[in-house]
Amino acid sequence: MINETDLEAWGYYKDSSLYKDMTLSSYQKAAAGTAIYETQHSIIYPALGLAGEAGEVANKVKKILRDGKMDKTALAAEVGDCLWYIAALCRDLNLDMGDLAKANLEKLYGRKQRGTLQGSGDKR
Ligand SMILES: [Mg+2]
Repeated sequence: MINETDLEAWGYYKDSSLYKDMTLSSYQKAAAGTAIYETQHSIIYPALGLAGEAGEVANKVKKILRDGKMDKTALAAEVGDCLWYIAALCRDLNLDMGDLAKANLEKLYGRKQRGTLQGSGDKR
C-alpha cells in the first residue's frame, strides 16, 4: 500500500534529474541500489519475489470482484513491486530491461504481422 512516505519519496524522485527522463534501463540501475539480498540467492530470490508480487496483484484484482470496486492505488503499488523484481531478475541474468522490452515488442509485432497473436506456443 502506498503511504505518505512513499508519495513524498515519489515527489522527490519525480523532481530529481536522475529520474526525470527515466527509461527501463535507468530504472533497472536505480532499483539495483535497493536490492539487499545475498548474491548467492541471485535469480531465485527475485524469481520467487516476482511470483509472490504477481499473487498480490491477483489478490487485489480478486477483491474487485468481491467488493465491486478497485483500489487502484494499492493495485498500482503491487504492479510496481512486480516491476522491481523484474528489474532485479534482469540484473541477475545480466539482461537490460530496455533491450528486453524492445525484443518483446518485436516478437509481439512479428506475431501481429503473421496473424499469430492468438493461439499458443512460444514459437508462433
Ligand atoms: Mg507487494
